[in-house]
Amino acid sequence: MQPVSEVKGVGERSAELLASLSIHTIGDLLEHFPFRHEDYAVRPLEEIAHDERATVRGIVHSEPALRFYGKKKSRLTVRLLVDGLLIQAVFFNQHYLKSKFVLGEEVVVTGKWDRNRAQLTPAVMTAKKQAEEQGLDPVYPLKGDLKMSALKKWIREAMDLCGSEIEETLPEQLIRAYKLMERKETIRQLHFPSSPESLKQAKRRMVYEELLLFQLKMQTFRKQEREQTEGQSRQFADEDVEAFVKRLPFPLTGAQEKVKNEILKDLRSGYRMNRLLQGDVGSGKTVVAAIALFACVRAGFQGALMVPTEILAEQHAESLQSLLASEGITVRLLSGSSRVKERREILGDLASGKTDILIGTHALIQDGVDFQNLGLVITDEQHRFGVNQRRVLREKGLFPDVLFMTATPIPRTLAISVFGDMDVSVIDEMPKGRKPIETYWARPDMFARVLAFMEKQMRAGHQVYVICPLIEESDKLDVQNAIDIHAKLTEALPDFACGLMHGRLDPEEKDEVMKAFAENRTRLLVSTTVVEVGVNVPNATLMVIYDAERFGLAQLHQLRGRVGRGSEQSYCILLADPKSETGKERMRVMTETNDGFELSERDLELRGPGDFFGRKQSGLPEFKVADLVHDYRVLEVARQDAARLVESDAFWTSGDYKGLRDWLEKEGVFEMERLD
Ligand code: ADP
Ligand code: MG
Repeated sequence: MQPVSEVKGVGERSAELLASLSIHTIGDLLEHFPFRHEDYAVRPLEEIAHDERATVRGIVHSEPALRFYGKKKSRLTVRLLVDGLLIQAVFFNQHYLKSKFVLGEEVVVTGKWDRNRAQLTPAVMTAKKQAEEQGLDPVYPLKGDLKMSALKKWIREAMDLCGSEIEETLPEQLIRAYKLMERKETIRQLHFPSSPESLKQAKRRMVYEELLLFQLKMQTFRKQEREQTEGQSRQFADEDVEAFVKRLPFPLTGAQEKVKNEILKDLRSGYRMNRLLQGDVGSGKTVVAAIALFACVRAGFQGALMVPTEILAEQHAESLQSLLASEGITVRLLSGSSRVKERREILGDLASGKTDILIGTHALIQDGVDFQNLGLVITDEQHRFGVNQRRVLREKGLFPDVLFMTATPIPRTLAISVFGDMDVSVIDEMPKGRKPIETYWARPDMFARVLAFMEKQMRAGHQVYVICPLIEESDKLDVQNAIDIHAKLTEALPDFACGLMHGRLDPEEKDEVMKAFAENRTRLLVSTTVVEVGVNVPNATLMVIYDAERFGLAQLHQLRGRVGRGSEQSYCILLADPKSETGKERMRVMTETNDGFELSERDLELRGPGDFFGRKQSGLPEFKVADLVHDYRVLEVARQDAARLVESDAFWTSGDYKGLRDWLEKEGVFEMERLD
């Protein structure tokens, strides 16, 4: 399209201003969308929600009161009678409005409605004409000296000039399937909405378009990645696998079934699997892992399961043996405490192919461990299995399929954008009959009652975890806290043996403390957050978390997952005295839901995507209209559509998809391929 300077009123200076917003052509200008629309349609007070921004009409009921702070700051307060109710409107730094409020006269005011204080604040005065003529007023991102009014004028000019040349990008088939507004109309409505409903439709279309394009890019990258990395097809008989699934002690949940199929498809395909499997604590990932390993072994390959700690390795070895030994599959545990002779034997069997599946910590892929033909590596708790370990595999000349399992709920939206090169599977359903953990929030002054409850649980034969406060950056204070709390609880609950776990213990000591608790020799375990993820002590029914407000929601949920593993009702008590509203909200959210994914979504809403991973995450995509948090359902739809499209021949050949292909071309998606 023509350069933006062809718009009437855009001179050299203005063109420079626009260029700073990456607006060079008239097309760019037309795609400079408002980030919100101010709603100037007058509404009745009772319809307006707390904290909502809205416009009301009222009669001036008091002389406006004006106060200045410093040189330029001021606060102007005026009482208005609106729909029979007396409210206050508060204006900041608009002292010049004082003369506009005349007792007894009608005014129209827009602001954020604070229902508790009956206040509109911060408010702006709205021209009555605007309220009557145009309810929705676009608000654009600006920069430097750019003026909103000028920008609006140019956009109107640009629309008159080129509005009819806007081309459709989406194929007819998708527009019809989703009843989407056509592109020309969408852009017009975003700038000049004719009604709230048509604005909504325009946004819906643009959100889908943005997310589809984004996903097309990701899926094309993934396709290129797949086609360029060596992989091997694992040939197994479906009937064998299905028969094995039938022999499991329970039917799979719908989610397990779906995920199982996704994994089997990857194994069979010729490209290398690179899949992230997310599932809440207790959702049944181990069984899925067992099925994948089973299929891999039936196809004539070996499998490895890597876990972060020795205790977990033992637990997994036990459960996999019980599932797979009867199938004639050999499962061995390689442990740091294996004797030299035993170790030599295990490694020998591995190299000769006598052992089918090896379980262990990271030591498993390191020095001296050679597989005959490793086909699948599964890691539990993906965040502890880093890029380095993957490089070790490559350096050994191994290109196995890789499945990363994690119980850390990452909101799906972020998983898709952050792990763009991975496929993501989610087990979002719990096995039937699970009793949800009851979570309570207690203030520190209720500690006596918490203590009584701990005692009651232990008298009933159960066990209790106590998690100590988290002190950022101070391992030393963490340990001191744990020691203090241990001493205090030992004194308060003299009838029960109390274990102590913290980061300063050496690995053997840690193992011994965990073992004592797992075997019910200690009834109470005081621990810092080092308490092992994934450890299974079904007899533990209560977890008390000190200073819970210091933990992230995801971490609280992880910790809480240590209880609720048996048939008894389990409890989690959050000892917390949060000062901020967000802090209180977070505690409430914990008591309201047991769903790790819902929690992570709520955490994301409370903290924002940038902070979700604890530090500013670069590389998150930016959208003009779409919002990763609120539009995640559309993102999911777009992801499926994009995946389907890039796998179809029509997408790469048919004229219907030329608009989309051109866009990918423009984004440089194919350059990667040309480089090598
Ligand atoms: P996680 O996802 O935390 O690794 P596990 O695989 O350890 O979960 O499973 C937790 C418990 O649920 C195990 O005792 C397992 O046997 C049981 N389980 C798994 N899948 C099912 C199912 N479909 N029906 C009933 N119980 C199941
Ligand atoms: Mg597990």
